[in-house]
Amino acid sequence: MAKKKTKTKQSFNVQVPESHFWPAVEHGGIIPRGLEGAIGPNGILLRKLPSGKLANTSLPERYEKANLQYKEILSASDEPSPDRQRITSIPPKYFDRPDDPDRHTECLITGAAKNRLFSCPLFLKEPVPRPKPNTISIKESPTGGIGVFAERDIKYGELLIAERPLLMTGAFTKYKIRGGDWVHDYTYEDHVKIMWFEQEQQLELAFNRMDDDRKEAYMALANSHKEDGSGPLLGVQRTNGFGIDLNELTKNGGRGPSSEELIGEFGGMNLSEEQQANLKPQETLDIYSLVAKDASRMNHSCSPNAVLEFSLASFSLQFHANRDIKAGEEIFYSYTDIYVPAAERPKELEPYDFTCACTACSLATPESDKFRQTSARHMKILETLYQALKARDIEADNGMQMVRNNILPNLLEFRRKLREEGLGIMSGPYLSSTIMLHDLYTNLGMVDEPEMKSVLSDLSVWTMMKAGLLGRFLSQGNEIESAAAIAQDAATKI
Ligand SMILES: [Zn+2]
Repeated sequence: MAKKKTKTKQSFNVQVPESHFWPAVEHGGIIPRGLEGAIGPNGILLRKLPSGKLANTSLPERYEKANLQYKEILSASDEPSPDRQRITSIPPKYFDRPDDPDRHTECLITGAAKNRLFSCPLFLKEPVPRPKPNTISIKESPTGGIGVFAERDIKYGELLIAERPLLMTGAFTKYKIRGGDWVHDYTYEDHVKIMWFEQEQQLELAFNRMDDDRKEAYMALANSHKEDGSGPLLGVQRTNGFGIDLNELTKNGGRGPSSEELIGEFGGMNLSEEQQANLKPQETLDIYSLVAKDASRMNHSCSPNAVLEFSLASFSLQFHANRDIKAGEEIFYSYTDIYVPAAERPKELEPYDFTCACTACSLATPESDKFRQTSARHMKILETLYQALKARDIEADNGMQMVRNNILPNLLEFRRKLREEGLGIMSGPYLSSTIMLHDLYTNLGMVDEPEMKSVLSDLSVWTMMKAGLLGRFLSQGNEIESAAAIAQDAATKI
């Protein structure tokens, strides 16, 4: 039941909502009338892409087909321009060697991005980890379409799915405006049709390299863009792609951003439209979309119980449980910014063609909306106050009295409300609050508080997930508690 299918997109720490799948436009300084006001200073198309049903999906008159030219190259050193698109397989395929047991991702990637991946010391150094047997199943969901379900009781932090994607392609493709004066007569929709037509042609080149069973798996995925002018391959990609930011992933030799960077401005947060628009062209071209056989089956919830990481070491998408999950429960991931009010979330979810019926949506109140919307700012204010009062307490040498009396009760209450709202997940404000509470308890000498135990467990699980270690650790039969003990060191260094 493809219609209500799922999809998602998120990266290491940046989530790219579907509506932001906007091409960068090359216009040589002259912007055709149909695109005026639609292109930001960085060349990114700012207007939302059509979805739903388009009256006329045929290409505009006088459109000149792009002359796509490809040549086969044998090694990176043969490639004259790092900006050019390459069609390649990760891991590489060789004529004289068997395929990788974890399979291959067909990629449309710039030479520069490919070189950066291959220069990471960790890249492709490990096999894709395996979840424990009987962890999930994929079947019809009561909400319509197919979903992912827990086959047994699953513990917080456990690996749910790890798989090498079927396809990887730029989330922002370049659209080069060609043609004579008549391109000024094209409407915005005409330009989009051309972009999509050309993108479909490129996707075909990568798709044709897939093994037959991978092709079949790709085409079996939901497509909620059958009538808006997207080609069949692009429709599946738009419905099912997870966004990853290669720029972030390849930092520090492939270890990803440091803990400091992760808890910084964008740490675990979604990018706002404004932040997105301010991205530099080079950065936008580093955002890639991944489509996967099983992971792309996961449905959306505004109170998700799974988190996504991307591992460069095994080149795989990995989902972990971000709380205990009972046998039979559906496993959800969030496709969109879950910190906006319930009334605004349907707009973000429009391209996926379903109505979210999660408890956060069905039970939303003006209070819960306001809480979601202000939670990031609330957390920032708590952090600022904490730093200010801590400094004054230290100066007054008063045993951290002001922090103890003012910050601690507020922070505990804030965390309680986040959990109540289904936002007790290790990203965004809850992650920041966990890191802050760890620091606060440590400074107050309150390391034996019951909440400290859960803080340490949260941080340990999160640290190990970030390091891509947890799946391997748990598949060897270790429990979360021992993961917590082992990773405590790492957590205290955050
Ligand atoms: Zn919802």
